[in-house]
Amino acid sequence: EPFGGSDVAGMRSTAARHGETYILNGSKTFITNGYYCDYMVVAAKTSPESGNKGISMFVVDKNSKGVSVSKLDKLGWRASDTAEIAFDNCEVPAENLLGEEGKGFPYIMQHFALERLLMAINAHARADFALEYAKQYMSERKTFGKHLNEYQALRHKYAERYAEMDMCKIYNFNVAYKLNKGDYPVKEATIAKLTSTKMADEVIYDCLQWLGGYGYMEEYPMARLFRDSRLGPIGGGTSEILREIISKMVIDGKVYKPATQKK
Ligand SMILES: Cc1cc2nc3c(=O)[nH]c(=O)nc-3n(C[C@H](O)[C@H](O)[C@H](O)COP(=O)(O)OP(=O)(O)OC[C@H]3O[C@@H](n4cnc5c(N)ncnc54)[C@H](O)[C@@H]3O)c2cc1C
Repeated sequence: EPFGGSDVAGMRSTAARHGETYILNGSKTFITNGYYCDYMVVAAKTSPESGNKGISMFVVDKNSKGVSVSKLDKLGWRASDTAEIAFDNCEVPAENLLGEEGKGFPYIMQHFALERLLMAINAHARADFALEYAKQYMSERKTFGKHLNEYQALRHKYAERYAEMDMCKIYNFNVAYKLNKGDYPVKEATIAKLTSTKMADEVIYDCLQWLGGYGYMEEYPMARLFRDSRLGPIGGGTSEILREIISKMVIDGKVYKPATQKK
């Protein structure tokens, strides 16, 4: 929401029940695919006085009366639209409530494990592609009569960046395996996103550098990768918030349990 995305429980949107409908009021920002979507999953407070226990989830038809959407311009990640959405006395049928009323917060938290892992995998895949591209470029580009991939300064840096990417890749596959077999790897998915998005930013920074001026040109893929990568440590929980979650788990021994069990 515009007044603070990191503090999910502090959301201000409300959904007040009136007979067989909920009246939705509030606004959301930075909503991926929010502009071109047909339906959206919306979190709003059905009992604002109950804090994070008063949040519920709804499926909302974007064409409903009272919904207005505008498209945002952004640094990168332009392959998907990002929207600002306002709800002004929007009527949502009561049957559009997702799951149980008041369980929205744990539902959101539960799905963060998958979202964070997806962003981690996205990051290592982006870095992997950048390294492959840079390797090819460095095997072709010559300076001072030698190919770039013959200079030790570049080779060693490349090896180090490759190692960092590969560590993340194997770790992320391991978390995917755990999630796939029904575990709830909150700590691991959080570590995966925190580490992989930082790694991708650093790897792509260097890959762009190895292309010299060509790396800065939109004609080459590195410029876009560089812009796209910057979302990694922000979307789906910022790195600061992820560090907070990991500290609670590894220092204070906090344990997170899923809100719903797989049947
Ligand atoms: C392109 C894009 C797509 C997105 N898509 C979606 C989407 O589809 N759905 C959705 O719900 N959200 C989406 N988001 C929102 C995203 O999750 C938030 O932007 C993010 O969680 C941060 O919230 P904020 O922008 O309000 O920053 P704020 O919460 O205002 O934070 C600002 C800064 O302060 C830091 N900070 C805040 N609180 C603390 C603290 N307690 N300790 C230390 N540091 C702190 C943050 O880490 C950040 O660096 C998207 C964002 C972007 C940019």
